[in-house]
Amino acid sequence: MTLQPEPEQYDVVVLGAGPTGENLADRAKAAGLSTVVVESQLVGGECSYWACMPSKALLRPAAALAHARALPGAKEAASGALDPAAVLARRDEFTSHWHDDGQVRWLRDTGIELVRGHGRLTGERAVLVDGQRLLTARHAVAVCTGSRAALPHVPGLAEAHPWTSRDATSSAVVPRRLAVVGGGVVAVEMATAWRALGSEVTLLVRSAGLLPRMEPFTGELVAAGLAEAGVDLRFSTSVTALHRDGAVTLELDSGEQLEADEVLYATGRAPRTDDIGLESVGLTPGSWLEVDDSCSVTGVPGGWLYAAGDVNHRALLTHQGKYQARIAGAAIGARARGEQLDTARWSAHSASADTAGPPQVVFTEPEATSVGLTLRQAEEAGLRVQAVDHDLGQVAGASLYGDNYQGRARLVIDLDREILVGATFVGPAVAELLHSATVAVVGEVPIDRLWHAVPSYPTISEVWLRLLETYRG
Ligand SMILES: Cc1cc2nc3c(=O)[nH]c(=O)nc-3n(C[C@H](O)[C@H](O)[C@H](O)COP(=O)(O)OP(=O)(O)OC[C@H]3O[C@@H](n4cnc5c(N)ncnc54)[C@H](O)[C@@H]3O)c2cc1C
Repeated sequence: MTLQPEPEQYDVVVLGAGPTGENLADRAKAAGLSTVVVESQLVGGECSYWACMPSKALLRPAAALAHARALPGAKEAASGALDPAAVLARRDEFTSHWHDDGQVRWLRDTGIELVRGHGRLTGERAVLVDGQRLLTARHAVAVCTGSRAALPHVPGLAEAHPWTSRDATSSAVVPRRLAVVGGGVVAVEMATAWRALGSEVTLLVRSAGLLPRMEPFTGELVAAGLAEAGVDLRFSTSVTALHRDGAVTLELDSGEQLEADEVLYATGRAPRTDDIGLESVGLTPGSWLEVDDSCSVTGVPGGWLYAAGDVNHRALLTHQGKYQARIAGAAIGARARGEQLDTARWSAHSASADTAGPPQVVFTEPEATSVGLTLRQAEEAGLRVQAVDHDLGQVAGASLYGDNYQGRARLVIDLDREILVGATFVGPAVAELLHSATVAVVGEVPIDRLWHAVPSYPTISEVWLRLLETYRG
């Protein structure tokens, strides 16, 4: 018989201290509940150390240089290349050199306990850490263990030691030749970053276009930007085998070979649930955790098990994970006080924004942003919709960014309710435009009222006026 350690009881046990786990713990603590977080690596998770922050630190200098080079008067002063050593050093500062002291201090200052180690569920409301500490929860256990890169089965892949998103965001050297496999967000962002840092980049895409979940023109404009930056794009191309002998040789389904110094596989994500004791509560190890809108795991009676962030597969984005954390934290607090949950759409205990279509920015050059539904998604949902498009290059505010501003915007309008259900903006410096569309979509602002939301002249936001003029005729 194995001896169980003496249980240590808290109101809430959070498994994983990524952005979602940190925020969920914060909300539970704010609801007056004693809270402990278990973390096996770094407090701050993937986002702080191997995803959002280092990737954007790599990308921002490339964008700044591209913007300067597009502008007569500034381009003469920006004729040189990026300084890779300085960019990598700044990236290292953004990750605090992969030390989490600052985030640990925040946890402690907030009154949240931290237990370092690998946690596994051992049954209802119980988490065992490294087999040594048994944490039990009076009210809830929240699984916030995130996701990892998913690698396909390709002969020779493991032996070729491919880069995953972790290597692509933390590498201390700029490879001379980088092959990138994939056509999604991580693939296009990292192709942009490493090309700007001086790598010869080849992007190998299995399908016929990039960014398949966004409006089709998004992938086309991003592909044009990558090609202009010197990326070799190969569509409808699969890797059939790899071998490494110093450099990596990739065998392509066309029969060609491609040699590279590194190969990045950006081919999707897998849930980090294979070794967290899911079997002890009747769930399948290695699966995404299905939840309801309050982030309570479905199929587990008693309402004590929550899953938020990447691990529930609703929206693999930091801001959505943090949003789910706020909703789940509020739901856990309400249940602990014996209150009924309010799970109506857009209510305190419903992560409704996940299903309305979360906002997303792809930090390529041009930037690609979207919120809500694409035209196709809206039609598939059975809505009677109209797409309204406008060339961003025709907007006065955009022309200030250079003579050859390339971009496009689309609104998807629900004709029965006369509201916006989706918006897409693609172009240089459009990221900050997205939140206006998010407010319009989530607020279900009537088109007639949007007519009175006057954009300032001359800003890129004036595209709102042009789009509404086009719609109203
Ligand atoms: C290259 C890249 C760039 C990205 N850029 C953006 C971006 O710009 N904007 C954006 O919104 N999103 C971005 N994302 C997505 C974003 O990183 C994730 O959505 C986010 O990190 C999810 O947060 P999380 O807390 O759910 O999981 P994670 O950040 O993965 O954190 C999970 C934590 O749980 C810990 N853990 C796992 N299992 C256990 C266990 N058994 N015991 C103890 N601890 C455990 C892990 O160590 C980790 O710290 C990017 C992703 C990638 C790969």
